[in-house]
Amino acid sequence: MRGIVPAYEYDCQECGERFEVRMSIAAYSEGPTVACGFCGSTKVTRAFSAVNVLTGSRSGGAPAPRVGGCGHSGFS
Ligand SMILES: [Zn+2]
Repeated sequence: MRGIVPAYEYDCQECGERFEVRMSIAAYSEGPTVACGFCGSTKVTRAFSAVNVLTGSRSGGAPAPRVGGCGHSGFS
């Protein structure tokens, strides 16, 4: 199962850009120092996307929850 390199999204606190860093899960678990790909700053925070999907869905419309099969994999 080697060769799988997921991409992690980060938000730069200096220039505000969002960028992706590809690293192995093992490398990520060690808490590496990540530098912004635009300005080189290391003041970056992890960006969480595609996580808060289930909140605030009671707006009165047709809910039609779509669970699974949306192509996002990689998290276990
Ligand atoms: Zn930056």
